[in-house]
Amino acid sequence: MGDTIQYSVIIPMYNEEAVIQETYRRLKKVLSMTGETYELLFVNDGSRDRCADIIREYGCWDETVKLIDFSRNFGHQIAITAGMDYASGSAVIIIDADLQDPPELIFDMIAKWKEGFEVVYAQRVKRKGETLFKKWSASLFYRVLRASTEIAIPVDTGDFRLMDRKVVSELKKLPENNRFVRGLVSWIGFRQTAIEYERDERLAGETKYPLKRMVKLCLDGITSFSIKPLKISGYLGALLSGSGFIYLFYVLYMALFTDQTLRGWASLVSVMLIFNGCVLLMLGILGEYIGRIYDETKGRPLYIVRDVHGMKNGEKPVRK
Ligand code: UDP
Ligand code: MG
Repeated sequence: MGDTIQYSVIIPMYNEEAVIQETYRRLKKVLSMTGETYELLFVNDGSRDRCADIIREYGCWDETVKLIDFSRNFGHQIAITAGMDYASGSAVIIIDADLQDPPELIFDMIAKWKEGFEVVYAQRVKRKGETLFKKWSASLFYRVLRASTEIAIPVDTGDFRLMDRKVVSELKKLPENNRFVRGLVSWIGFRQTAIEYERDERLAGETKYPLKRMVKLCLDGITSFSIKPLKISGYLGALLSGSGFIYLFYVLYMALFTDQTLRGWASLVSVMLIFNGCVLLMLGILGEYIGRIYDETKGRPLYIVRDVHGMKNGEKPVRK
């Protein structure tokens, strides 16, 4: 194998023992058909099963296989970030380990890259074999994100994409801890294009994105790229106190100029509940931002690597 690597494929894995052998086989087939040099960079995100052992074993006889082994689970977005830190290819491809993203699409991505696009992302036109709730929540997620951010983050697009080295170098300069990688890629710019595909069913195993993680990802996406929620809570506050004043005038009018008395404890309770609820909601929104500021100021490293396999000496990356 030559010294320079053309394609780096990053595969984040978290308890993917059931699929990883097939993923390796499919990727190997696709990449060897390109006839160019490549590396398969597996990132073990603190799995508790044997998937890292399997990859380590492959690495013994296949020099294209590399493994970054995290000290614990840091999350999908951090895993792909680590992959980019270590990747040395002229083009970097990110793909899920569960074969929901068909590896054969890499051919089309490479073709677009060779046409001159620096980012080629895969956009889902259909999702197969996922629950209605997952489809619905994912669709809502992308639309909420689009409505709340100023930069254009493409809808129905995951992290399955090809990026030119230039884009990866720029990404590595962004130090934030709460990462929403696909948003960062949109923010960076360059010539970007989409290819459409039908998202397959997970080959085996179960999703590692339960609702809680989806909500976290959604909040990371929104808070990283927009302060609209803060503005909206300001407007909402103005609206509510405005309507409170109008009601006060009405009460005063009734008390001073009519002989009707307003009976009110039921309305008082409901108004109190609504207003206090709104205040807490706004505090919650504020908290989301402040919590993230706190995270960033600590300046902790993004991830901790237990060990790496298959890398040459001196290939340790430096984050700026
Ligand atoms: N993943 C990871 N760390 C995590 C969660 C997920 O590395 O904490 C990986 C997982 O192994 C898979 C990819 O991220 O390769 C996408 O996860 P998954 O397929 O479970 O998400 P879904 O497709 O259901 O949205
Ligand atoms: Mg999946």
